[in-house]
Amino acid sequence: MADEWDTIIIGAGCAGLGAAVYCGRFLMKTLVLGEITGGTIITTDIVENYPGFKAIDGMGLAKKLEEHAREYKNVMIKEEKVLDIEKKQGSFKVTTEEGDYNGKTIIIASGTEHRKLNVPGEKELANKGVHYCAICDGAMYNGKTVAVIGGSDSAAKEALLLTQWAKKVFMIYRGEKIRPEPVNYQRVINNKKIEIINQTNVTSINGKDKVDSISLDKQYKGKDKLEMDAVFIAIGQIPITSFSKKLGIKTNQKGEIIIDRKSRTNVEGVFSAGDVADTEFKQAITGVAEGVHASYSAYQHINAGNVVLPSGNSNH
Ligand SMILES: Cc1cc2nc3c(=O)[nH]c(=O)nc-3n(C[C@H](O)[C@H](O)[C@H](O)COP(=O)(O)OP(=O)(O)OC[C@H]3O[C@@H](n4cnc5c(N)ncnc54)[C@H](O)[C@@H]3O)c2cc1C
Repeated sequence: MADEWDTIIIGAGCAGLGAAVYCGRFLMKTLVLGEITGGTIITTDIVENYPGFKAIDGMGLAKKLEEHAREYKNVMIKEEKVLDIEKKQGSFKVTTEEGDYNGKTIIIASGTEHRKLNVPGEKELANKGVHYCAICDGAMYNGKTVAVIGGSDSAAKEALLLTQWAKKVFMIYRGEKIRPEPVNYQRVINNKKIEIINQTNVTSINGKDKVDSISLDKQYKGKDKLEMDAVFIAIGQIPITSFSKKLGIKTNQKGEIIIDRKSRTNVEGVFSAGDVADTEFKQAITGVAEGVHASYSAYQHINAGNVVLPSGNSNH
């Protein structure tokens, strides 16, 4: 049998890297398999709510987490996509595009992918004016008119970032009132470049070779079509769990992995953390903390619950 890892962490975002740091400290032989090191947080320009840093760019925060995890010789991080996990005689076989790995425990921290709007034009005009990440693609729209679809804190942050380049940013939200963090709400309503259109859905994104307009399900200022150079879709995220289907991991209606207060899934030896799990508040700091918690539970599992906590408290 190939080398067995104490734990295999699937995902190298905030949750996976947070877990890796603690697995490092627990001297667990740890493999992190993450398609994109850093995960979702690298797609945002500024993070102002990660305690300890008044402001840090998303990439910078991810780099710090990665560097910290790499400090431990017992932690290895590989940029590989996980295709499948199977239970094999008390351990788990994880298959990636590169090969197979065996782990005594698994921590699933695979995060989310962008939810699609599913309207005509979205697919056809992808990367031709349809985007999902302002920091990645926003600078192309210097002096242009763009729209952010969505009303969450992430959507507000995308709109605020886009005002650095665009001359006009519409925020189009199907609900009654956009719902960012209050501090970002103030910034949005005080920003003269941003115009909010509530209670409205985009029904199609139009253009031949690139986006030139969007259609709305009701009139705004007498028009149901707005001229537009680009659309940034920020209507939420969908948990990534496809590779765990064979294991029979239970998910809720939103597709999030159901965990208990010890980060345990319904499959013994498999833990989960971060945005992929059924936690209420999905942030970088909560992802890190949940990853840390999952690593502790995996450590306890390997040691049959007989571990004395680093603080000196026993787990009983
Ligand atoms: C636009 C935007 C702005 C945000 N701003 C903030 C903010 O200011 N402050 C804040 O606290 N939070 C913010 N968030 C939320 C924050 O980014 C997430 O809560 C956090 O990054 C979740 O971390 P995670 O590790 O759970 O998941 P992710 O960061 O999504 O990481 C998932 C990891 O799993 C990997 N993965 C997925 N599938 C596979 C597979 N099959 N095989 C191997 N690896 C896989 C990914 O490549 C990645 O490494 C923002 C989110 C968005 C979208």
